[in-house]
Amino acid sequence: MKTPAKTVRDYIRTIPDFPHEGIMFRDVTTLFANPRGFRMAVDQLLHPYTGEDIDVVVGLEARGFILGGAIAHQLGKGFVPIRKKGKLPGATIEQAYTLEYGEAVMEIHDDAIEAGVKVLVVDDLLATGGTAAAGIKLLERLGGDVVGCAFVIDLPELGGRAKLESLGMDVHALCA
Ligand code: AMP
Repeated sequence: MKTPAKTVRDYIRTIPDFPHEGIMFRDVTTLFANPRGFRMAVDQLLHPYTGEDIDVVVGLEARGFILGGAIAHQLGKGFVPIRKKGKLPGATIEQAYTLEYGEAVMEIHDDAIEAGVKVLVVDDLLATGGTAAAGIKLLERLGGDVVGCAFVIDLPELGGRAKLESLGMDVHALCA
């Protein structure tokens, strides 16, 4: 009997207790390292947006840069990073958000996107949705129109999808 073709999920490994005890860390480095897996992930993330009007791809630090860069290249569009506080060299706007323990701050260059542009937001994983929601807020503060949020992995039990959908977002994920 033929072995079934591998899916994106098959290339992702789970590392228990990283970075803290009790966290099941979904490690996408094994997906990115595999040429077939990486291409499949990029193609599948893009698929629902074929024919959609997207002006710019935004990646969330850090694994969203790897996926977002590849997607932007494929679409022939530019790429804009949203980074953790203190990493971007130019003038920024910032947005605080809640983490499991404490707070974090994300930033975008204040001239990174023009008002009215259509944005696709990309990251590797959606958990509580705090990171993506902060990114969306930054983009909306600059006048961006977020047309979709694409993730390789969605952990729906952590509420991220519900949170983003309550903000009116279209959420696309490849696996749970
Ligand atoms: P959240 O803001 O809770 O939706 O968390 C999403 C961000 O944290 C993403 O940038 C992920 O890369 C990272 N993250 C959260 N939980 C995990 C996990 N279990 N495995 C890998 N990355 C995670």
